[in-house]
Amino acid sequence: MQKTVQLTILPSEAAQPELVRQYVAKSVGVHLHEISGYHIQKRSIDGRGRQPRAVLTIRVFIGERFEEEKPVIIRFPDVSHAKRKVIIIGAGPAGLFAALRLIERGIKPVLIDRGKEVRARRRDIAILNRQGLINPDSNYCFGEGGAGTYSDGKLYTRSDKRGDVRRIQHLFVQFGATADILTEAHPHIGTNKLPSIISAMRMQIESSGGIVHYNKKLVDFSINEGIIKIIKTSDGDMLEAAAVILATGHSARDIFQLLEQKKVHIESKPFALGVRIEHPQELIDRIQYHTITRNIHLPPASYRISEQIGGRGVFSFCMCPGGIIAPASTNACELVVNGWSPSKRDNPFANSGMVVSIDNNIALTYLKKEQKKIRFSDGLLLMEFQRAIEEKAFAAGGGKFVAPAQRMTDFVAGTHSGSLPACSYIPGVRESALREVLPDVVYETLRQAFVDFGKRMKGYFTDEALVVAAESRTSSPVRIPRDPHLLHHPEIQNLYPCGEGPGYAGGIMSAAMDGERIASLVADKFS
Ligand SMILES: Cc1cc2nc3c(=O)[nH]c(=O)nc-3n(C[C@H](O)[C@H](O)[C@H](O)COP(=O)(O)OP(=O)(O)OC[C@H]3O[C@@H](n4cnc5c(N)ncnc54)[C@H](O)[C@@H]3O)c2cc1C
Repeated sequence: MQKTVQLTILPSEAAQPELVRQYVAKSVGVHLHEISGYHIQKRSIDGRGRQPRAVLTIRVFIGERFEEEKPVIIRFPDVSHAKRKVIIIGAGPAGLFAALRLIERGIKPVLIDRGKEVRARRRDIAILNRQGLINPDSNYCFGEGGAGTYSDGKLYTRSDKRGDVRRIQHLFVQFGATADILTEAHPHIGTNKLPSIISAMRMQIESSGGIVHYNKKLVDFSINEGIIKIIKTSDGDMLEAAAVILATGHSARDIFQLLEQKKVHIESKPFALGVRIEHPQELIDRIQYHTITRNIHLPPASYRISEQIGGRGVFSFCMCPGGIIAPASTNACELVVNGWSPSKRDNPFANSGMVVSIDNNIALTYLKKEQKKIRFSDGLLLMEFQRAIEEKAFAAGGGKFVAPAQRMTDFVAGTHSGSLPACSYIPGVRESALREVLPDVVYETLRQAFVDFGKRMKGYFTDEALVVAAESRTSSPVRIPRDPHLLHHPEIQNLYPCGEGPGYAGGIMSAAMDGERIASLVADKFS
């Protein structure tokens, strides 16, 4: 007989398998010797009470042979001689998972990316951090694995109806992630481990006969009677395309501009914008776990917080316990911050985006105030607004990707910070009045929110917290529409907008699921 039970026990108890076995036996009401084994199916921490608890969902085997859980292995056939070829632009999670799916379905993917492979990319990222010089084709967003490679690698999604979350997690394990991502309620891989996983995916694509090109950027395409015939790349190559999966991510502004120039319909898409907050991790641990020192069996604490202020949503975004704030810009003179953490989450800081929902009105007001000429179509309005904020943040930092920052208390009081606390951001921070950088409504909403959050999380509103600008790439500012059933662009029958860039994903898991979905549909069409 098998049964599923839920245990809520101390984290230190959860770390002792024999003790867990005793609790399991008690919970199902049998003698210890009748339990032949158990699998932990889900593990989470409940920090709401005075004493944090581990919550375990366990499958117990009683009086029958215990079977170890076998890893799911997906086999990829050889497609080197496949007749059908599909071009995928962008080797982020959406593009990589689309390529793997096409191979499973017997189709040869040709994957092209403007950036470099992971090792060469790492050097460009080091130059960005240490010297303040950016390579516009190889950075935190562009290159092998896309924005997913040097991301935090949190693998949860709220869009679990969009695809098979479990399958994507199993694929990550197949390519090198540890199996605990299958049981953790909030799985996390970590920036140090992601690059080798991404490389293993690329090696699988190549060894199965797929083609992968780096340093190859889509720069143009020709359309004839609603079909893309040829795509042109930056190295002068012309590639014939039966189908094109466009998975270029939310930072490929040149692609949005190219579509606009070609009069392919795009729309501006509301997104959220704000700042990144950094606290000492110890402080967040104290707040969340209600203890002076974090128990070694507890992970560094995280938080998720949101509220409505004046009818506008303000919420934490991509929280990174034990993490680092990173320059996620893609162009010179534009400053974007984001966050990541290593697998152990052992840095002394906790950072999180804190962002406010944006609409066209906010964008228009800001662009007018900044006296920016509005010379673009509606589809690019929010993208141009995003760019204007990033330019302002860059200028406020004084160059070389130094970020403008203020103590949280000074941000709220509207006063200057004489000095700034230590910060994880490697290019450095510079004291600067952030009300000059942000749209008024974003600044005012955040001011109110920090005070409110301080009431809900005692100690959150503090002069030990640093506010860093600008967190501007939370999701795409553009939507590339697609047919709701056939998933191609309504005007171009073989163009498949995919992943986060065209507005169909918001993170690694949802981008990967969208990649699989599009690839399956293209394969169905071909068969
Ligand atoms: C620092 C950081 C931390 C993050 N942390 C997390 C996290 O913890 N969890 C999470 O779920 N998400 C996280 N994200 C977001 C996540 O990485 C993205 O949501 C995800 O990568 C989107 O996948 P995608 O494939 O749609 O696009 P992308 O990953 O953006 O990939 C797009 C690819 O297209 C390529 N490309 C662009 N233009 C062209 C062109 N013209 N020709 C050829 N190639 C082109 C780019 O080089 C890039 O490789 C983080 C992002 C960053 C930057």
